[in-house]
Parts: sequence; C-alpha cells; structure tokens
Amino acid sequence: MRLGDGSSVACDFRATEEPSPCRSPDQSALFSSLFVPGAPGVAVNMTIVFKGGVIMDQKELVSLIVSEVVKELKQKESIKVNKREKEELEGIKVGISARHVHLSQEDLETLFGKGYQLTKFKELMGDEFAAKEQVTLVGPSLRSIENVRVLGPVRKNTQVEIAKTDAIRLGVNPPVRPSGEIAGSERIVIVGPRGVVHIKEGCIIANRHIHMTPADAQRYGLKDNDYVDVETRSCRPALFCGVQVRVHEKFNTEMHIDTDDGNAVGIKTGDIIKILGKSSKNRCGIRLSENV
Ligand SMILES: [Zn+2]
Repeated sequence: MRLGDGSSVACDFRATEEPSPCRSPDQSALFSSLFVPGAPGVAVNMTIVFKGGVIMDQKELVSLIVSEVVKELKQKESIKVNKREKEELEGIKVGISARHVHLSQEDLETLFGKGYQLTKFKELMGDEFAAKEQVTLVGPSLRSIENVRVLGPVRKNTQVEIAKTDAIRLGVNPPVRPSGEIAGSERIVIVGPRGVVHIKEGCIIANRHIHMTPADAQRYGLKDNDYVDVETRSCRPALFCGVQVRVHEKFNTEMHIDTDDGNAVGIKTGDIIKILGKSSKNRCGIRLSENV
C-alpha cells in the first residue's frame, strides 16, 4: 500500500482467504479517504489475515493501517538521523586555502603607508579575517603573481603561503611547513601600492592540517600536533598522509589544504573528507608522521 499527502490509497493487501478487502467497494472507499499528511510516498507492506472469510472490523482495520504507517515513518526518520550523525562523526569539512600573505605591522606600513590599518573583508576562523588589501609577489624569475590577499590581523612575522605551482612560476623553492615555522624558509619580494618588502625568509608551502575544536579532538581521540591519515571522497580519490592536527577552542573543525592539493584530487571548499586514524606506516609506506 502506498500513502501520499492528499493522494488516494492504492490497496496492496494480501489476504490468505477470499474475499480481498480491496475488491469490496466499501473497503475501497474507506482506504481512499486515508492519507498521511507530510509523508508522501510512504510504502507499507502488511498482510491481513482473515479468519473464516470474515472481513476485519473497519475501525480495527483503520487503526492497524495507521499504526503500520507510523511505524514505517519512525523507522525512516531514525535511519536519516543516524546517517547524519554518522557523517558528522566521520567527516571533516574541507577549506581550500588560496595563496595569501600575513604581514607584520612594520611590513604593512612599508607596503601601504605609515600607520596603515587593515580593512576587514571577510571573517575567517577565530579572530582571523581576509583583508581588503592585496599585494603582488615577485620572485627571481621576475614573473609576478598579482592580487594576493592579505590576511589579518597583523602578525609578529610576515609569512607568505603559496602553492607549489605558484613557486614554480615565481622561481622560488619554499619548504612545506606548518604555519609560523618560517626559520630558514624561502625569500620573496612583496610589492604594495606604497612600497616594496624583500623578506629573507617567510615564504612557505603550508602543510596539510586540520583545525579542530577540543570537543571534536576528544571525539576522535586526538590531541594537538597529532598526525592523521585522511581519505578524500572525490572523483579522484586519494590518501593524504601525515596531516597535522591543530586543536584550539577558537578553531572550527576544518581541514585546510592548498589549491594544488584541492585541484589534484578534485575537492573544493565545503567537501567532506574522512580521517582514517593516526598516521600509520601500514597505510602510508615508509614515511611516518613523526618525520613529517
Ligand atoms: Zn588553516
């Protein structure tokens, strides 16, 4: 039997003895008056057993149908909720980080003028924001990348985060590093509307990392600076090994990878990835997370 909002009821009873209630005009009229609001297309399979060819009392029949429909609806709803909970538990949202620059106040003023303050363009995680300001990067190849977004607020040290494809264009060779670890990293030239800064270190390719709330870290059994292996769910599925976990109450739980990684495996901001567990030699060959 199939019940739909505002629709009539098509009988699909299987009786063990004749006559079938679906063949009775009275019963057909009764069934067609039934519908379940807000539950289109609910299918109910029920078998009514008739004793000695006696048709069940109409009231009893209606109550039986209603209870079967309610049972079916509850089951469907609980499957939906369980699926959502499972996805939330297993899946981490992805954020693709495009190339960007963090500036010290001193470098900000060299690039944009004395006493300059960044203008908020878009709120990001925690107190971070994408600023309205943009700069141009220039490397030894003398090629440039324009319109590189500045992220605020200002930091102690200037840091330039680019993808490997950008590095090739600029002719630089930045190391893969966690944000903030810039000692001995690549040099680069930053051009602003009012000046130029030549940083001797600070250009990096950001490592793959997952920002996590303390509650989620507890749920996954992880702590700050653990490394995990991650599986992408995309048209070009891939395994990311040795992804750094960073736990802080200011974070939202989100994995950050750069545009090269995103494009390579076919994932975009808002897609979901799955943590397989702490990085393991079995999954990722000889390279252990501890060495990343
Ligand atoms: Zn991040």
